[in-house]
Amino acid sequence: MIKVAKFGGSSVANAEQFRKVKKIIESDPDRKFVVSSACGKESSEDHKVTDLLFLCEAHVRFGVSYEPIFEQIEAKYNRIKKELKLKLDLEKEFASIRSVMKRGMSTDYLVSRGEYLTSKLLAEFLGYDFADAAEVIAFRYDGEVDMDRTRALIEARVTDRGLVVPGFYGALPNGVIRIMSRGGSDITGAILANVVDADVYENWTDVSGFLVADPRIVKNPLGIPCINYSELREMSYMGANVLHDDAIFPVKDKNIPINVRNTNDPDNPGTLIMADCSEKDAVNPPHIITGISGRKDFTCITLQKMHSSTEVGFLRKILSIFEEYGVSIESVPTTVDTYSVIAASDLINHCLYDIVGKMKEELKPDDIRIEEHIALIAIVGRAMKDQPGISGRLLSEFGQNQINIKVINQSSYELSIIIGVHNRDFEKSIQCIYDRFIKEEGKNA
Ligand code: ASP
Repeated sequence: MIKVAKFGGSSVANAEQFRKVKKIIESDPDRKFVVSSACGKESSEDHKVTDLLFLCEAHVRFGVSYEPIFEQIEAKYNRIKKELKLKLDLEKEFASIRSVMKRGMSTDYLVSRGEYLTSKLLAEFLGYDFADAAEVIAFRYDGEVDMDRTRALIEARVTDRGLVVPGFYGALPNGVIRIMSRGGSDITGAILANVVDADVYENWTDVSGFLVADPRIVKNPLGIPCINYSELREMSYMGANVLHDDAIFPVKDKNIPINVRNTNDPDNPGTLIMADCSEKDAVNPPHIITGISGRKDFTCITLQKMHSSTEVGFLRKILSIFEEYGVSIESVPTTVDTYSVIAASDLINHCLYDIVGKMKEELKPDDIRIEEHIALIAIVGRAMKDQPGISGRLLSEFGQNQINIKVINQSSYELSIIIGVHNRDFEKSIQCIYDRFIKEEGKNA
């Protein structure tokens, strides 16, 4: 069996975390491929190395001394090296980064040094080989990863010992370093899982996978044992962020499950993310609701015009105004002659009145209203499909708890129901749904 294990920043934040990683790696000989993020925060007052590197870059750009910040980074790595009695010549590494900074460097080079240094130390500590991502993760000039070339480069580095690859960056065909978007080490792990044909991609972080609801709202929510890609997309789009969105694509192609695990609680099985959970469901039937997530602060523009429902293209005209202003739309609930368009307030605020003005001018509505402070809640669940009564029970829960529903949306895929409420009812709504569908009804709903 081949396992790719990616460790996030909190898993490699200090020497103590490095020891936990080693225990995890040594407990399973299949974990031969390791991807590491840069050291994350040790405490809430601490800073992620990547953030400090971005800060150094800004100092270089504005001609302000970066030394006090760079020294913080050096101190962090020196502490890890000393505590774990490692041999890596960090002075030489720092000197070479400093000299590149003095000559003028690319942002990508500088901010990738967090992953580079962390992975070098980790490789030595684990007794694994180190493969610089600049040498094995091959970008094309269009910014896409060249999977075939990456596969060949990785294959050439495989030995009996394991391999540690830094996450978050690779190199263009001319050797210039290129970073991914923030949190991109998740993508590196997925790429590696694809090219080595892994049986599982383990993503080790500081939470035991996905939870049914946000623990800041619901006390001790249950974990989600298994979630499919579409559910995951719905959950993370609506705010449940554990894994980088783009980490799905490389593993999806090959049906490689992702297992999100907790470095601080390695016995917890975490969450399995799979294309199809039906085999798992046959053994362990899922709850009707896989998860509840949501976001506050949406704005809803509602337009009414008599007989417009029979006018072909009327909805397109409304939507094209949003397109013209570059506003991404979240949801478009409609009834006869009435259309609500919902968008995130921070995306629409700067042009809200322009959009409304344009709607008035071009569409001549009978009425147009703006409603702000709307929260959208996604109730997601593969088990909801073809089950009569779910939305009935859901809506009655809102009624019994005196929560006014402003918007309801469900596509015929029946994978999720989106409910819009006032921001002030957001937490209460999530708690009520959790209590009813997870606590009270259990799995027999
Ligand atoms: N270190 C990078 C970041 O902070 C990438 C990662 O950790 O995945 O975004």
